[in-house]
Amino acid sequence: MAEAKKGTATKKNNNTKKSGGNKNYSNKKTNEKKTSETTGQKKENQTEKKKKSLLPIVFTVAAIILVITIICDILARNVDGFAEFYAGGIYPFFVHTIGFINGLFPFAVGEILICLLLIGAVVGIIVFIISITQSENKGKISAVAVAVVLCTGVFLYSSYTFNCGINYHRVPFSEKSGLTPSKYSAEELGQLCIYLIENANAAAEKISFDENGLMSLETKGLDMKAECVKAMGKVGESYSALSGFYPAPKGVMASEFMSMCKITGIYDPFTIEANYNVNAPDFGIPFTVCHELSHLKGFMREDEANFIAYLACRESDNEYLNYSGFSEALIYAMGQYYGAAGAEKYGELYKTIHPSIIKEMQNNNAYWKQYETPVAEISNKVNDTYLKTQGQEEGTKSYGRFVDLMIYDLMQMNA
Ligand SMILES: [Zn+2]
Repeated sequence: MAEAKKGTATKKNNNTKKSGGNKNYSNKKTNEKKTSETTGQKKENQTEKKKKSLLPIVFTVAAIILVITIICDILARNVDGFAEFYAGGIYPFFVHTIGFINGLFPFAVGEILICLLLIGAVVGIIVFIISITQSENKGKISAVAVAVVLCTGVFLYSSYTFNCGINYHRVPFSEKSGLTPSKYSAEELGQLCIYLIENANAAAEKISFDENGLMSLETKGLDMKAECVKAMGKVGESYSALSGFYPAPKGVMASEFMSMCKITGIYDPFTIEANYNVNAPDFGIPFTVCHELSHLKGFMREDEANFIAYLACRESDNEYLNYSGFSEALIYAMGQYYGAAGAEKYGELYKTIHPSIIKEMQNNNAYWKQYETPVAEISNKVNDTYLKTQGQEEGTKSYGRFVDLMIYDLMQMNA
């Protein structure tokens, strides 16, 4: 051991003699190496510190967003005027940004996000199980997993609250627009049915039908989505609450699944998109699209969304939208008229409906009948009970706010 040390020293001395500058170079290199090692360690330490400090930041930001969301949710439910202030002053910003960006894509972004979320959840669970069983740092892996779940949960909850939930507590469209429907007699409901039949029949005379005698969105020259956006813009000229920007509506790829759930359209609060079931009978689709676009304007009540869709389709310059709006409204009104006036009077009016519209109604019933499930039956029974409880007073009845609003609107036009 000692020999080897001596020999090495001699060799080193000899080398020094031969080239004096090499010693300095060698030392410099060693120093550089040391410096480099020190820097590397520093970097590692810094990265370690960064890694350590990232999780608390993520948790803090998520907690802040969660608290703000909960506070806004509570304020919307309990403080008069907050939801209306939010819907008119802040929510439009999200429509003009999130809604605008997602509107640029030709497909429903929300649908893709749901797929990614499901795939991410499955992959995440697998990665988590493998990591937690193989790694020694179980605590850190668990903390990362909690952070991912927490962030996803906070994102979904806050997106829903700010793009939809708060708007449920705003001033209803009817109140904001000075519409004051009340209870009506069966005769007044009959007048509405006659008005709707006349207009639906007139629209049926103007449009062309496919080989099955049904309205088709494949009709040459018909850009349904653009017409719906235009129609909503037009009705916004009369009702300022509906004016402004509307992103393009989207057909859903998983429309078969929507049919299984008996859903014709859906407003996606996470992407601010108006999505619709492309498999549903075509004649109802423009009405559905306008319904979803009204939700996008911050009016969340179903009956009011139907009324807005009816107004948009009725006021549209496009006869296919007129046909869709009047036919859909007729289905609702006639359904109420049957209960209010009896089978005989119902039958008399039914005979005056255009054969094409009767065909649409029959095809519509047949389409949805194939998707009837026990869940749908329960839902129907609940709805039926609700309708029965509506009409306990003799002579006058409330026919659901959609029909009531249409009767009120007709009476205003005739006044
Ligand atoms: Zn709706």
